Amino acid sequence: MLRLVRGLKKTKERLFSPLRNLFTDRGLDEESIERIEELLIAADIGLDATERIIEALKNSMGHGGEADPLRVIGEELIGIMREAEPGQQAGGNPRVIVVVGVNGVGKTSTIGKLAHRLGEEGNKVLLAACDTFRAAAIEQLEQWADRVGAPVVRQKMGSDPAAVAFDAVQSALAKGFDTVIIDTAGRLHTKSGLMEELKKIFRVLENRLEGARIEAWLVLDANTGQNSIRQAEAFVESLPVTGLVLTKLDSTAKGGAIISIQSTLGIPVLFVGVGEGVEDLEPFDGRIYVSELLGIDGLDTA
Ligand code: GDP
Repeated sequence: MLRLVRGLKKTKERLFSPLRNLFTDRGLDEESIERIEELLIAADIGLDATERIIEALKNSMGHGGEADPLRVIGEELIGIMREAEPGQQAGGNPRVIVVVGVNGVGKTSTIGKLAHRLGEEGNKVLLAACDTFRAAAIEQLEQWADRVGAPVVRQKMGSDPAAVAFDAVQSALAKGFDTVIIDTAGRLHTKSGLMEELKKIFRVLENRLEGARIEAWLVLDANTGQNSIRQAEAFVESLPVTGLVLTKLDSTAKGGAIISIQSTLGIPVLFVGVGEGVEDLEPFDGRIYVSELLGIDGLDTA
């Protein structure tokens, strides 16, 4: 929770503090509503969400204008985020999480941090180095694995990623690991080549685990803001993406984009990355996030 607060510092300073000041300086009127609209769009909240918020504010004005505008904004934001709340966690043993995303977004770091977190919670975690395209990727995963004390299943560079994933699941079943986290490539010669390779990993896992739902987490860099949506769509069209991870929240003022990314894709943000340390992965909670951004407590938390 404290880490999330720290991670949102930049977003809050650049975009949400002016919003708060606006209401301190003047009440809610046509002019301030226009300014709010600009601020929300600048915060990368997205057009749809912004329109819904403006509508809610206008409605609240119609009712005597005594509603606290920040609260109206906060409750609308929470409502928008709730539409993509995480469903039940997939069953099945071992739990298999395939982590996908383009190079450089923070996939390997996220896997390291996640392995650490799940390990601390008492899980026996095995990692699989399925980015066999780059030798550095395998080494980097191994470095994280050493750091957090989780074993890695790997094969030599250039081997079939689906075969490595299969090996990892076999090994988990034989040795009693309850969680397998799979690192994947973020770039091949062609985009369709990458998607075909990733799809094959899913096919092989689904066959081996007979109907178990394989989790697919898509990692996005928060610095990319709303442009992440287009990047995400390429993955979402091809793969059964079940959750999102937004990294580098600590280094961006575009933290508002979480709202548009989650609501446009209709896929929940499960975790956010808030630094480069092993502990810097926080479960994402929309209510805490909105309360923190707007600096208000006691929002509709039903
Ligand atoms: P991959 O290519 O997707 O596997 O990305 P990496 O895990 O190698 O990360 C790319 C860079 O982003 C590295 O320098 C990481 O230290 C950095 N990084 C990853 N997550 C975060 C984060 O949450 N905050 C910050 N500040 N940096 C991060």
